[in-house]
Formats: sequence, C-alpha cells, structure tokens
Amino acid sequence: MALKIYEHMVVGDLDCNCYLIGDPVSKQAVVLDPGDDGGRIERAIAGHGLEVVAVVATHAHFDHILAAEAIRAVTGAPFYLHQGDMDLLQWLPASLEMFLGVTQAPPPPEVDTKLSDGDVLKVGGHALHVIHTPGHSPGSICLVTAEQDLLFSGDTLFAMSVGRADLPGGDQDALVTSIRRRLFPLGDMPVHPGHGPATTLDRERVNNPFVGEGSRFWSG
Ligand SMILES: [Zn+2]
Ligand SMILES: [Zn+2]
Repeated sequence: MALKIYEHMVVGDLDCNCYLIGDPVSKQAVVLDPGDDGGRIERAIAGHGLEVVAVVATHAHFDHILAAEAIRAVTGAPFYLHQGDMDLLQWLPASLEMFLGVTQAPPPPEVDTKLSDGDVLKVGGHALHVIHTPGHSPGSICLVTAEQDLLFSGDTLFAMSVGRADLPGGDQDALVTSIRRRLFPLGDMPVHPGHGPATTLDRERVNNPFVGEGSRFWSG
C-alpha cells in the first residue's frame, strides 16, 4: 500500500493546508506544514495511531511553521527545513507583526536537519523525495512520493495560481522556472498545495494562467 493522506487540516489565520502523510502498514507518518493549531494536529496523529518520524515545512513562512516546535516536542520527531530558508526563519517575528499584528512572537522552531535537493525522507517502507523549487522563497521545496503518485507543492504551485514572489527572497523568474523545469516534467499526478484545493499536474500544465502552456510566460 502506498503512502496516503491520513488527514488534511486547514490551520491558522492564513488557511494553510497541513497534511498528515503516512504508511498504512508501519503507521509511520510525516507532518507537513504544521502552520498552527498544534493541539488539533496532535489529536489527529493520536486518532490515527500514527508514529511521526518527521516534521517538515515546505518553506519558512510563519503560516507553515507556527506549530512545528510543538509537534516536534510532543512527537520527538526531527524538524526538517531546506537550508535555503534558514535566514527566512529569523523573519518570523516581523512577519507575524506585518501580517497578523502579533507583537509577542514565539521563537522560531529548532531545525534538526537542513534539507537539500534530492534528499529522501523514509516513511515506513516508502519514501518522499525533496525537490528544491526556489521562487516563492529561496528554500521552498516540494515533496513527491517515490512512486510519483502524490505531489505536495507548498506555496510554489496552487490550483490555477502560483505563490507570490514579492516577499523577502522571492524571485518570480525562479518560481516559473522551478514549476516548468522541476514539476511539469514529472508527468501527471495529484497535487496538494499549501493553500486552497487540490489539483493535478496535467491540469496546471495546460490551464494555469501563470505557468501553463497558454500563459504569457510559456515559451515551450
Ligand atoms: Zn509562503
Ligand atoms: Zn503559505
């Protein structure tokens, strides 16, 4: 049995998609983008009887990491972030104030392991592969199952949209290149973004107004 999504929770003030991805045989699981509502995520982990082996953020924006330290502490699982977003972690207090008016920011989560492109996260008998997709942030990543039947696209690719590139470290050209060179060549598969509804790679490759074949950025 392949890896499956045990739970999809919309968490925090910016409606981040937090995913509980697990192996049905070993019951090992990954918590992806614990953006807030740590208690709810903990209950979901316990409710499914899962053993969390990794806490992963697709990037360091606060809406994807606010509950990371809590889940790391309660599960004992290491927290993974791409090395390119380590500096962005320090933006946490200022960004919380800018977006939510929060002046008492928690400290950034402790990063146990810095990820690089091509790293593999083992989950029971399965694996998630790290694809470095800079653009929305310098260290944004996507995760794809070894079987290439599930893609988690963070804030890089959304249904009919793409992540914003105007925040610190953002790069519009890099974002377009990441999607076209690293994601579309994977072939068709379901895509689960960091915000909003699920989609598929084929649907976005054809129809996405920012990076699809008919868009003004497309050059073949
Ligand atoms: Zn973001
Ligand atoms: Zn986000």
